Amino acid sequence: MKADIITIGDELLIGQVVDTNSAWIGQELSKAGISVHRITSVSDKEDEILAVLKETTERSPIVLISGGLGPTKDDITKAALCRFFNTKLVFNSEVYSDVETFLKGRVHSINELNRTQAMVPESCTVIRNMVGTAPIMWFSTPKGVLVSMPGVPSEMKHAMSTEVLPRLIKAFPTEALIHRTIHVFDIPESILAEHISEWEESLPDCIRLAYLPSPGKIRLRLSAKGSERKQLEEAVDKAIDQLYPLIGDIIFGFDDQKPEEELIRLLKAKSATIACAESCSGGYLSHLFTSIPGASEVFNGSVVAYSNSVKAGVLGVDTGLIEQHGAVSREVVEAMAQGAIRITGSDYAISTSGIAGPTGGSDEKPVGTVWIAWASKDKVLSRRFLFGKGRERVIMRTADAGVIVMKQ
Ligand code: ATP
Ligand code: MG
Repeated sequence: MKADIITIGDELLIGQVVDTNSAWIGQELSKAGISVHRITSVSDKEDEILAVLKETTERSPIVLISGGLGPTKDDITKAALCRFFNTKLVFNSEVYSDVETFLKGRVHSINELNRTQAMVPESCTVIRNMVGTAPIMWFSTPKGVLVSMPGVPSEMKHAMSTEVLPRLIKAFPTEALIHRTIHVFDIPESILAEHISEWEESLPDCIRLAYLPSPGKIRLRLSAKGSERKQLEEAVDKAIDQLYPLIGDIIFGFDDQKPEEELIRLLKAKSATIACAESCSGGYLSHLFTSIPGASEVFNGSVVAYSNSVKAGVLGVDTGLIEQHGAVSREVVEAMAQGAIRITGSDYAISTSGIAGPTGGSDEKPVGTVWIAWASKDKVLSRRFLFGKGRERVIMRTADAGVIVMKQ
């Protein structure tokens, strides 16, 4: 079953608001086994909207629209829908009473603009919106349906999950579609592709593979489509089992799992604690930990030891080591991790020291050289990474690598 998504609003075209609605709707439809043909963003201009309505309703049985339903003059979706479906706006007393209830206590009195919210195209089925003032409008088209929803993301999501999606699933029985995403660390895309090419060729016809690379990480998405959900799940599980012997050591998670979340879970299970000593990552590693709810049970804290004097004075790194090997070195980063364990009393520590750039660096240690150490009370391991150029990218990759390797 195929769908088209339309998002409406000048703000989307000038980049003032990022179109997150399409991405979210696409995800939800795809989980329900409905594939999205195209996503179109269109300005608040009637002619443009009409052209897109014509094109999409001719090709897709399901057309979902968000935005442009507000009471202000710039929102013209309703007028365009009336012209397209050759119908007129009529007053809907149920919608009016919902608007009144919704606005009670929020505004002094309901004005004429709020009243226009209760004017709806005569030929549509109105679905009530209990979390906002713009109703959801469901139209029949020659091929299927067109549904117009509010643009405010929370209202659109509420409408989709409670009303629109259940109705679509009922109206358009679909094949089962499942996605599993495998997160892989620290390997170039071309090498990974070569390494798993035989496995890829052996995948059954119902499974499709996609590579989604981002700095330092690749997501492998397996999509399976067919009539029997259980069979698809078994086929995907089997494919993943066969992938493990090939790249098991660099797989660091699945689907929406975050490595820092997993690491915190593992530490909690061991009743262990962790701390950081960060030079080039400047606190970003700690930020990854503290953004996970419940991190306080395992994360003790971090020393942002950016200068050599803090590395020496606070973490107790021997100044001789810094002079002899430089701050970006195995010796110093290991001493930093051990220092973090000593001063925080933690079971584990991660430390970072590198050259984020854009300036600095040498032939021997170019910009992007980062040393990371992982320590427990009686052991310390470290590794050098070459993360390349781009200051922000180096910082983020450092923090990611710190967490991912610790978790492994
Ligand atoms: P309302 O009745 O609340 O005015 P509406 O349907 O008129 O709803 P819009 O006026 O188009 O919605 O958008 C309201 C707000 O919702 C925008 O300011 C914007 O922040 C957000 N928004 C609209 N469309 C999108 C989108 N596609 N992705 C993310 N945010 C969006
Ligand atoms: Mg708008």
